[in-house]
Amino acid sequence: MIQDIYPKTYNCEYSEKEPLINSRIFFFYQNQVLASYQNNQLQIPFYYQIEDSVKQELPLRYLFAIDETDYFLADTVQTFNISPYQYQNISNFRGALPKDLSFAVATAYHLANWYRNNRYCGSCGALLQHDHKERMLRCDGCHNTVYPCIAPAVIVAVTNNDKILMTIYAEREYKRHALIAGFTEIGESAEETVRREVMEEAGLKVKNITYYKSQPWAFASNLLLGFFAELDGTDTITLDTTELAAADWFSRNEIIEEEDGISLTREMIVAFKNGYGAGATPGTT
Ligand SMILES: [Zn+2]
Repeated sequence: MIQDIYPKTYNCEYSEKEPLINSRIFFFYQNQVLASYQNNQLQIPFYYQIEDSVKQELPLRYLFAIDETDYFLADTVQTFNISPYQYQNISNFRGALPKDLSFAVATAYHLANWYRNNRYCGSCGALLQHDHKERMLRCDGCHNTVYPCIAPAVIVAVTNNDKILMTIYAEREYKRHALIAGFTEIGESAEETVRREVMEEAGLKVKNITYYKSQPWAFASNLLLGFFAELDGTDTITLDTTELAAADWFSRNEIIEEEDGISLTREMIVAFKNGYGAGATPGTT
């Protein structure tokens, strides 16, 4: 999956670091990032490549480290020219190499959106201040505190003996097979989200809900929680056509999907194809 960068290690512990010459700096503009990308090799600007006049304009926020490399956000809505980099859509880099850098782009994008969308207090409208000890914003006017926002969502592999329920989303570019998925609502447990989403999207009941794995999915500020669940009762699908273009049962030998090393959805589909099912012990993939 996108976060699996072993043997490198992601370190999200917050501190107020200063950039070093070999720190990487993210410049985002909307859903684009300043990067170079050739032969599937991704590069992100180093601090030493930024002109002094630009450095002076930039509020830099320390984001995280991967092994010895520190990553910073240029916390700005302006665009900058830094040769040989160009602003490019972040979704181009999901499968880019090196893998730790493609994970870093996604994770930085999630943080950048949070910083960009939280400049002012949502309660009283005053400018928010950056806390020095943790990743938190505070309002000196009304004492409101704002922490990074992560939206939990479930992915559900509904199984019926040798078959799995696969879907195709309506009105999305992604036309490959997916699984039932949806956001957890306030007041709801993840297991309740599983039951509700399967009923809403496919009109099916499930039992024996089994947690599989989770995945940070920064493109939508998500934490995805993967579950397997067994069909309970009729297998007749009632499709929610506002969400899905199709949903059908597929037996293991009908699954053509291969592991992509990126998404939890794909890993779950391939795990089922390779014999994994609800009630079993989570695999080691
Ligand atoms: Zn306030």
